Amino acid sequence: MNHLKVIIIGAGIGGLTAGLTLRRAGYTIEIYEKTSEIRPAGAGISIWSNGVKVLNSLGLGDEIAKIGGQMDIMEYRSHTDELLNQIHLNSLVQTVGQRPYPVSRTELQSLLLNAFNTDIETVKLNAQCIRIEQDEHRVTAYFADGYQTSGDVLIAADGAHSQLRDYVVGHPVKLRYADYVNWNGLVEINGDLGDKNTWVIYVGEGKRASMMPIGNHQFYYFFGCPMVKGTIVEPESRQQELKQIFAGWPFPVQSLIEHLNPYESNRLEIHDLDPLKTLVRGRVALLGDAAHATTPTLGQGGCQAMEDAEILSRFLLTTNIGVEYALKRYETARKERTSTLVLKARKRADMIYGKHPDLTQKWYEQLKQETETDVINALSQTILGGPFH
Ligand code: FAD
Repeated sequence: MNHLKVIIIGAGIGGLTAGLTLRRAGYTIEIYEKTSEIRPAGAGISIWSNGVKVLNSLGLGDEIAKIGGQMDIMEYRSHTDELLNQIHLNSLVQTVGQRPYPVSRTELQSLLLNAFNTDIETVKLNAQCIRIEQDEHRVTAYFADGYQTSGDVLIAADGAHSQLRDYVVGHPVKLRYADYVNWNGLVEINGDLGDKNTWVIYVGEGKRASMMPIGNHQFYYFFGCPMVKGTIVEPESRQQELKQIFAGWPFPVQSLIEHLNPYESNRLEIHDLDPLKTLVRGRVALLGDAAHATTPTLGQGGCQAMEDAEILSRFLLTTNIGVEYALKRYETARKERTSTLVLKARKRADMIYGKHPDLTQKWYEQLKQETETDVINALSQTILGGPFH
């Protein structure tokens, strides 16, 4: 379809990538973001090859490679420092045709924003969408400050805590607490922490601690531990908290806790969303976490938002029957893939974080038996299920 005006609510990974794919399709784009500054939650993110391929298709391949970490090896170790398995990711790259790139979230957000170049005013800050209305010709977004705008299509890319989701699905939807807390941040790479080309994951006691190399000689680190809902620990006490939880874990984990800056750390209760039956309503489509928030145990949430953006633009561009029809096609194309990944990530979170201790124990044993081929096959299957095989 030609000459559409698309309104996008939310300037996270999903909203910005959708802005770029839809602009490439020749549409007029307006992006509205409620915050006064685009500040991503979280420190790092791993963009797996399926996400990188979407960025490649937008001409951003060199840019993402520049900010990406050199992650050549993935290594599982036990909390007693036993090497459980070590996978060389080169064969993954050979199988799927693209390196994955762990990156700093701030740099990724800047990369996406800068890709709008002179159209940077496309992204309007301090604009909180509070309501949507539509008829058979237009959709209108209303904002907290009284502003309103109308277009042909509206993309609700307003994140896991989406205010617009209930309108689309037609009933209230609640996020589900995944029963664990995640701490994350960035730390300068040094020899005490680990090898600069290795993503190491320490597992044991139903917890994990991990470091992943991003660009600029930094590790993106994260810890995870099961916890009841509602605990709050202020930054000044976080190192003490982590020291207690990971007492007796190997030297690199202790070193990481010593080296991290608690005031630049994040401490998050992890949530996900039961798969939705509906992702679109008329001229309005959910995209990214608003549609399928997931636990981060597969590292696919942001990548799926990028895939959404690619598929949505393809259906709008190649259909002449109408916007509503194109969005229905998008819904059909995305529902199964994203639901499968959300449920798979949920199962994996339960296994990592000891929801059923016997299964977790079995998994630790299984890690020792897993071959490089097993791991590469599992990763490739997820990646090759994306729009660019
Ligand atoms: P968001 O990034 O949440 O963006 C939504 C935007 O909408 C925000 O800027 C918000 O301010 C704005 N907004 C909200 N409401 C309104 C409103 N009413 N009006 C206007 N603006 C509004 N994914 C990966 O691919 N790889 C990983 O390694 C990975 N690791 C993760 C680790 C952790 C600990 C977590 C929590 C997630 C991880 N993810 C990962 C998932 C990934 O972060 C998300 O899937 C991704 O950020 C979703 O992007 P989004 O644009 O849909 O939502």
